[in-house]
Amino acid sequence: MKKTTKRPKKTARRPVKKTAKKKTPSPKRRIASRANPEDAKLYFARLEKAYPDAKCALHHRDAYELLVATILSAQCTDVRVNLTTPALFQRYPDAPALAGADRGALETMIKSTGFFRNKAKSLAGMATAVVKDHGGLVPHTMDELTALPGVGRKTANVVLGNVFGINEGVVVDTHVARLAKLMGLTKETDPVKIERDLMALFPRDDWTLLSHLLIEHGRKICIANRPKCGECVVADRCPSARTAN
Ligand code: SF4
Repeated sequence: MKKTTKRPKKTARRPVKKTAKKKTPSPKRRIASRANPEDAKLYFARLEKAYPDAKCALHHRDAYELLVATILSAQCTDVRVNLTTPALFQRYPDAPALAGADRGALETMIKSTGFFRNKAKSLAGMATAVVKDHGGLVPHTMDELTALPGVGRKTANVVLGNVFGINEGVVVDTHVARLAKLMGLTKETDPVKIERDLMALFPRDDWTLLSHLLIEHGRKICIANRPKCGECVVADRCPSARTAN
C-alpha cells in the first residue's frame, strides 16, 4: 500500500499590521502637566492681585441663607439665585420656618432656579434635619453638614469656608474644575480627586479664596471655549495658553 505523506496544512498568514508612525504631540494636543507648589504659589499671587475683591457671589447674611442659596445654585447662575432669595428669606427667615413651609408654595418661589421640585425637596429635608438634629442652627462640621439631605461636599465647603471661616476643603464647581485642568493643577475629572490635588498644592489657609479666584478668572478671562489668553495674568506659565486661543 502506497504510503501517503500528509502535507502540513498551510497556515494562513496573518496580515502584518502597519504601525502608525508615532507623532510628536502638537501643542494643540498637549495635555496639561501637573503643576508644582511653586507654580501654584505664583498662580495664586497673580490671581489674588488681579481679583482683590474676589468673594462668594451668593448673597447671604448667615449660614442658613448661604446653605439655602448654595442648594439653589445647582445648575443655575448666582445672579438668578440672588434674584430669588430675597423674597424666599423674607418668607422663610430660618430653618424652622423653612421646615414648616408648604411644599407647593416653596416650589413656586424657587421655580425660576430650575429643578425646583428636587430643590424644594432638598431644602425641606435640610431644614427639617437642621431643626431636628441641630436645634434649628446650621452645623459647622463637614460630617454634620454632609449628613443633611441635599448637602454634598461642595455645598458644605461653601458654608464652612465663607461663613465659619473653616478651610476644610476647596469648592470645586465647573469653573474650578475646568481651570484647574487647563492650568495643569490636576489631570483628574472627578471633583473629589480635583479637590484632593488642589489641597495638596495650595496651603490650607488659601483654600476658600482659591476657589473664588478661579471662579472670577473663569468668568472674566478663562471663559469656557473662548479663553482670553492674551489678557491672562498666568499665560506665561499656563500649559494650555497656546492651545486656548
Ligand atoms: S492662559 Fe488661557 S487657558 Fe491658561 S488660564 Fe489663562 S486664559 Fe485660561
